[in-house]
Amino acid sequence: MHVFENILNQNRPIRLLTTLFNNKTIPHALLFTGVKGVGKKRCSIAFAMLCNCTDLRFLSGIDDEPRINPCGHCSSCKKIKSGNHPDIIIIEPSGTYIRIDQIRNLCRLLALKPHEAHLRVVIISDAQALTTEAGNALLKELEEPPSGTLFILTAPQKSDLLPTVLSRSQVIGFNPFSLNDLVSILKSGHGANHNDALIMAAMAGGSLSTATTMWKSKNRIDFIRQRKWLINFVNTCIMSEPSPDMLFASALRLAKNKEFFLDSLKVIKSWLRDLVIYKYSPEKIFNKDMTDEIKEISENIAEEPLLCGIKAVDNAQKKILANSALRLTAEIMIIKLARV
Ligand SMILES: [Zn+2]
Repeated sequence: MHVFENILNQNRPIRLLTTLFNNKTIPHALLFTGVKGVGKKRCSIAFAMLCNCTDLRFLSGIDDEPRINPCGHCSSCKKIKSGNHPDIIIIEPSGTYIRIDQIRNLCRLLALKPHEAHLRVVIISDAQALTTEAGNALLKELEEPPSGTLFILTAPQKSDLLPTVLSRSQVIGFNPFSLNDLVSILKSGHGANHNDALIMAAMAGGSLSTATTMWKSKNRIDFIRQRKWLINFVNTCIMSEPSPDMLFASALRLAKNKEFFLDSLKVIKSWLRDLVIYKYSPEKIFNKDMTDEIKEISENIAEEPLLCGIKAVDNAQKKILANSALRLTAEIMIIKLARV
């Protein structure tokens, strides 16, 4: 079983991890950074399997070099895969945050010896969601790590963590998926036609899980239809002076429901991002089917207001995830966009 080769597009991080394993230089804490849905958590679990497998295999990897892999079949591998290994501990946000109680419970577990693992692995998924209190409690464990224990934290970027936590972790960056990779996965793995795949991939911002979730969503046809409206709406906001009536009507339409609003924000963000990216690396834009329009707008608007627009969208995303009122959140974001 090719445990690592099932993780797409992450050859470099996997090579770094297998080198740490082969050289017996695994640190106490690793931090995996990268956008959501690129394989950080899957890789954490695969590495926990590797560190505890009793029947390691050398299998030829994508680059044809034999690569060490966990077997996937021994008792340890099976337990980890099914989420039943007592020494592989996964901490995730409960709601919006990872709270102090979760870290206190973890500390109690870590005070005991591992049950059976060669290397106990604590995976803190979405570590950016640690409250300050929880982050500080975790820091105590990182400062004096219990022996035979590896911490793996995952987060979108380094700056999402407390600097003290960051300084105790070895960082491994995970790549976003390229537009072309996402398009071909949606086409070959999910039967999408080329145009639809291109639109979904553009909205996904480099995240495989976002692309596939959107593709499977019951709102899929809506996204494809709404994309044009959303892009026209953003262009009106940033390029002309929209009337208050238009702004409030748009807020009402966006705030239809939570899922729809969040997906619409991905479209808006991907569009604003492309307007910035076009200035530096036009070949890296996501919305490639609309290159002419991106070129025209990008050349007529400065970078800074676009970055402010992206920040307004980020804030709205956070507010929605924290269950703020949808319509008010939409109105605040749109007012900021219109001032861009
Ligand atoms: Zn195994």
